[in-house]
Amino acid sequence: MAVVGVLALQGSFNEHIAALKRLGVKGVEVRKPEQLQNISSLIIPGGESTTMAKLAEFHNLFPALREFVRMGKPVWGTCAGLIFLANKAVGQKEGGQELVGGLDCTVHRNYFGSQIQSFEAELLVPELASREGGPETFPGVFIRAPAVVEVGPDVEVLADYPIPSNKVLYSSSAVEFQEENAVPEKKVIVAIKQGNLLGTAFHPELTADTRWHSYFLKMAREYGEGTSNTSVAVSGA
Ligand code: GLN
Repeated sequence: MAVVGVLALQGSFNEHIAALKRLGVKGVEVRKPEQLQNISSLIIPGGESTTMAKLAEFHNLFPALREFVRMGKPVWGTCAGLIFLANKAVGQKEGGQELVGGLDCTVHRNYFGSQIQSFEAELLVPELASREGGPETFPGVFIRAPAVVEVGPDVEVLADYPIPSNKVLYSSSAVEFQEENAVPEKKVIVAIKQGNLLGTAFHPELTADTRWHSYFLKMAREYGEGTSNTSVAVSGA
């Protein structure tokens, strides 16, 4: 039977487990490398990626997590989890942190700024609506959120977020705020998929909308059926 694991070192793992429960699925907490052998898919929650990486190092989880990804098992990273899954992270302190990697992208760790620049925004996600039904929009909860600033050719962009050009300017070292006229023109990528890997810069587990969880469960089911380790789209319900 397919078992969904949730990395439970730090961050919003309880909220992911609660969201899975609302869909009638039991999420299993994962803290040790050997526990990865008992699950068929994994969610890496949001939290604080440096702290999570330190704990993962302490538990010697990185080699096992990389192997899990390499085997083509479905993994979904939300926020700090997305940072974990990126091949490259920028905007972090010197030396950075260890990454699991797998998603051919560069993520800016704190693209939108610090805790006080956290925000909520309706995101347009046609793919989610067409596969899961419901509205075309999804309530994006962005908490000290990262964003994807570069993607490789095999990465599917599922959602981006238009930024008024006067509001947030990306630079490799800081996010700057300006007061001039708003011109909504710049879009940053906030949700991606590449084969067995899914990444969202926001926190679906903090909303009542379970469609991203349901989307991921379909990816996980398809892996169980031996068809998900490709970039072929997930079939509808
Ligand atoms: N930007 C945070 C980090 O670097 C992630 C924030 C989150 O997961 N809510 O870890």
